[in-house]
Amino acid sequence: MTRLPAHDILFTPMQIGPKVAKNRFYQVPHCNGGGYRDPSAVVEMRRTKAEGGWGVIFTEQTEIHPTSEITPFIEQHLWDDRDIPALARMAEAMKSHGALAGIQLAYSGINGPNLYSREVPLAVTGGPILTFTADPVQARTMDREDIRDLRRWFRNAFRRSQQAGFDLICLYGAHSFGILQHFLSRATNHRTDEYGGSLENRGRFLREIVEDLREVTRGELAVTLRMSLHEAGAYGFSNAELRDFIAMHAELPDLWDLAQGTWEACSGTSRFKAEGAQEELVKGIKVLTPKPIVGVGRFTSPDAMVRQIRAGILDFIGAARPSIADPFLPLKVEEGRYEDIRECIGCNICVSGDMTGGISRCTQNTAFMEEWRKGWHPDRARPKGASESVLVVGAGPAGLEAALQAGRRGYRVTLAEAGTRLGGRVAKERMLPGLSAWGRVADYRTGQMAVMPNVEIYRDSPLTPEDIVAMGADHVAIATGATWRRDAVARFHLHPIPTDPAMPIFTPDDLMAGRCPEGLSVAVYDDDHFYMGSVLAELLVAKGNRVHFVTPAVKVAEWTDNTLEQGSIMRRLLEIGVEMHLSKAPEAIGKDEVILGCTWTGRQTALPVEAVVLVTSRSPEDGLFHATRALDWQGAGIRSLKVIGDAAAPGPIAWATYAGRAWAESLDQPDRGDALPFRREIAELLPDDRITP
Ligand code: ADP
Ligand code: SF4
Repeated sequence: MTRLPAHDILFTPMQIGPKVAKNRFYQVPHCNGGGYRDPSAVVEMRRTKAEGGWGVIFTEQTEIHPTSEITPFIEQHLWDDRDIPALARMAEAMKSHGALAGIQLAYSGINGPNLYSREVPLAVTGGPILTFTADPVQARTMDREDIRDLRRWFRNAFRRSQQAGFDLICLYGAHSFGILQHFLSRATNHRTDEYGGSLENRGRFLREIVEDLREVTRGELAVTLRMSLHEAGAYGFSNAELRDFIAMHAELPDLWDLAQGTWEACSGTSRFKAEGAQEELVKGIKVLTPKPIVGVGRFTSPDAMVRQIRAGILDFIGAARPSIADPFLPLKVEEGRYEDIRECIGCNICVSGDMTGGISRCTQNTAFMEEWRKGWHPDRARPKGASESVLVVGAGPAGLEAALQAGRRGYRVTLAEAGTRLGGRVAKERMLPGLSAWGRVADYRTGQMAVMPNVEIYRDSPLTPEDIVAMGADHVAIATGATWRRDAVARFHLHPIPTDPAMPIFTPDDLMAGRCPEGLSVAVYDDDHFYMGSVLAELLVAKGNRVHFVTPAVKVAEWTDNTLEQGSIMRRLLEIGVEMHLSKAPEAIGKDEVILGCTWTGRQTALPVEAVVLVTSRSPEDGLFHATRALDWQGAGIRSLKVIGDAAAPGPIAWATYAGRAWAESLDQPDRGDALPFRREIAELLPDDRITP
């Protein structure tokens, strides 16, 4: 296999100040939920990107001083010299295959509540801390002495970054998260001294910091500026102002790293943002500066990447999520292995790992953040053990991943699917408004298995327990999925509610199977709180229904705060005329109305409707598993029989692909007993030298 000559341009080296990147694949800084808590896990995650051929690899946000930290979000720390060893290991891993290693330095100003350090937050202009969590904390306005201190703290961080072995330092402004942008933006800078007012003044701190960086590092490190392409609002640092700033400071950094306004706007899901969505905002900036430009856009198509460069829009193709979904994207393009690219589906489950304080996972790349913890690799599999054959029942995300990974390990794999289409839930959900990219979960896996001689896939093959036992595989995984409940039971109602059988009730499964109300007044009851309720509301509106969205939560689709979509969902539902009933749950479903109860007061109101759609919870389809387990499967020579994915415990798609991987990894492994199923690091204990009053 060779790559198309048109893609050669992606592999031409390019200068970034004193450094040279070997190609145009630039992994922009991205969080991972591990940060300072899981240093080795993050190191190995970055090492796979080095192995996968990225030209530039960055850390996530690295907090430079305890007067500015964003607990509960877990990022990197560079607070004193004791933080250097972990970051040095990171830099070494990043450089292990010829990539440039970058560190992103952040001082969060008005964005850092300091819930851990308890220091008074310092901001360009004081005021309430602006975060996702509305902490009841205000920042103090920095005086000249504070600004001098901040310059010194940055200088310390520059020295430590160089000591740790990084090639590039990124000064973080973008997403309204970094103090550099807070200086530039009139929204966050109300100062009347030489750091406020004119654009010249607002850019002063940035100029000083860049000068300091070059001086401390003796010009040996490259300087990149990560800035927002557009801040919304009357006082925001607009795209026009950014262009003025770049024109005025054309040679200030060694590279401009440009990302859309807020994090929500920059990292939109595929439901709301197409590949390359930032093009209009970044187009034309290149002529303002001789320095290279990197931009993001969830690029997974090499043709789209080449176009950005040929059209003179970008010099480097920035990627966070595409590099998470496929750390080997550059190498696959380089070697012309296009069909092996595992494309990001744009679901933002990775983001949710950071937002929830968990550790990030990826729907597509099941090894993400398990490289060190479990020794998983995005593309390589450990060789198979003593047994030979496996049977996987059900070709949803769990079954597909289980079969693929077992196949990669070298087992003889039989995958049996009851239906004609492969993909299980994603085969259905990909047909819903905005979710077509979900299909990539099935397409990647079926494409990979199509060329594996040791994998056989049977469609239209609903297996019975007797079939399973008769097939005589060494190991069996039952991945038969889950079904949406029809009785309103989920979080709010733990038991069914009174329901008149005359009222037509629908579940997401009905709607996905084409049984959808049309031209009616419909109540959608969402006690799931992820994407399904709002997606179905869109579908129902498209089918001519008047839609009432009922949820016991205080906002629509509240878990989607974690995927950065909640605002977009709310906006869309309002725009298409969906009527909201927040903090409400159905107490009873009558023949032509739903009795809604206020979740706070219990006050009841009647909502006249002609149909109800229940988006509540799912029941595992584990009947096949239990019926098979009741037979003498061990007597038939089956060594292990497991239920995995939604059939074990329903969850998001990423939970199912993970379950498939975990099962395939466990084959022929010794029983771990009560040992932890992953490696972890424990904070270093200092000598017991208590400070006494
Ligand atoms: P998961 O998310 O856990 O992968 P899905 O619901 O997406 O679960 O997929 C389950 C798949 O299992 C569906 O495609 C369904 O058709 C299939 N399936 C269910 N029962 C059987 C059976 N008896 N034999 C083969 N396939 C089955
Ligand atoms: Fe892409 Fe989803 Fe993976 Fe994030 S979790 S990298 S959005 S596929």
